[in-house]
Amino acid sequence: MPAPADGAAPYRGRFAPSPTGPLHMGSLVTALASWLDARAHGGTWLVRIEDIDYPRCVRDADTGILRTLAALGLHPDEPPLWQSRREHCYASALQRLEAAGQVYPCGCSRKEIADSLVHVRERHQTLAYPGTCRHGLNGKLPRAWRVRVPDGDAATICFDDRWQGRQCQNLATELGDFVLRRADGLWAYQLAVVVDDALQGITHIVRGADLLDSTPRQIHLQRLLGLPEPAYLHVPVVVNAVGEKLSKQSGAQSVDDLAPLEALRAAGAHLGLRHDATDVPDWLARATESWAGLLARLPRPGAA
Ligand code: GLU
Repeated sequence: MPAPADGAAPYRGRFAPSPTGPLHMGSLVTALASWLDARAHGGTWLVRIEDIDYPRCVRDADTGILRTLAALGLHPDEPPLWQSRREHCYASALQRLEAAGQVYPCGCSRKEIADSLVHVRERHQTLAYPGTCRHGLNGKLPRAWRVRVPDGDAATICFDDRWQGRQCQNLATELGDFVLRRADGLWAYQLAVVVDDALQGITHIVRGADLLDSTPRQIHLQRLLGLPEPAYLHVPVVVNAVGEKLSKQSGAQSVDDLAPLEALRAAGAHLGLRHDATDVPDWLARATESWAGLLARLPRPGAA
């Protein structure tokens, strides 16, 4: 793979698990793809524990995930970062957006939003927020903080995904002004991920395709906050026998139940990497060699 052009930031990638349970095959596929992409670029690979959705976090799942990664030979190049220790950074980003007039408090309940439904996305059944509180709370108590999205065509955000090809989403018609701080006081993933990717100097994001439709929201925030836009690669999501994304809720098996080499082979096969190896370091070295070729062969024009 080519070295960065003169002046381009050196490659920095990351794996950003939410500690909601042990590492399962779906999250291992993402971890492995991000590790391989970083190694194939001669770059740096980081791990960030996304533990700010407190009700979803499971005690000690973070240390368990880090232990599992280490057993698989996936060692971060710098100490892991915990989002729960960085809430002041999300607060200061929100303040900057407030000073720029880009965010506003919202007093609408979920029910009110559903009642004033303007659009239903067939695939995800997402409601576009109709902007009720854009011009004031009208006596309601503030609950959440929302960021404005532009109107009309200006709300269309496109990016070239290195695996999935060109993606476009109109934030106004598909989502509306979206939440950065939730009614329960918790920071929204969309804000935290953008702030931390910038803080950690992430140049390449490799993650599951279930997050494809979050990316335009993140690009919108990067633009508002004046942050660089990383390159994106979304790998296909691993599904179970009935087509559900693997997760703790869908009963995914822990990767710890498999021998490390067996786990890597299974995750690699999902990505289209199939080769023999004598042990974990040997498997990882061969997979790193194959990675660029695999991306180049994706059935899609312009894959790199
Ligand atoms: N924490 C997110 C998850 O586990 C991933 C975030 C990201 O990679 O941007 O689904």
